[in-house]
Amino acid sequence: MKRRPSQGCRPKKAVAKEVGELRARLSECHTGQWRKAQCIFDQMAALTAKQGPMGGKMVPRACRYCGYYGHSRQHCPRIKQLEDEAVEAELRKIAQFKPFVPTTDEEKAWCALIDEHDRVYKELCDMGPANGKEWGDEEWKQAWDARFQSNPSWA
Ligand SMILES: [Zn+2]
Repeated sequence: MKRRPSQGCRPKKAVAKEVGELRARLSECHTGQWRKAQCIFDQMAALTAKQGPMGGKMVPRACRYCGYYGHSRQHCPRIKQLEDEAVEAELRKIAQFKPFVPTTDEEKAWCALIDEHDRVYKELCDMGPANGKEWGDEEWKQAWDARFQSNPSWA
């Protein structure tokens, strides 16, 4: 059986696997290891038979944020991690807030008013409008007033 010398006839799967391994190694290289990065990159280019513009030598690019090869700033896993940590820190902060407990009569009245407001709002939403579709402004106002007025604490 005649064997072709070109790498083009190698099974695509084997090439893809090799390129994947090279890519993984490239992504572990920092700008300080540019020689190694270029070497790995050249092997990848040879496997995929890629040529740069005008047939020039292609050089690997490192991320402008972290300096590692194999990804751009937009896909930087280190930026992503910082963002995730910032979100988690924010969530931890929010989780520390304690619910407001009213102490003075004024605060208690205000909280009761808000509770009542929520209750009526939910009640009207659950009930739905007469036409079963959308509340009209006037219809909502009448239903609202009727409920607030019917409550002696707000009369
Ligand atoms: Zn990066």
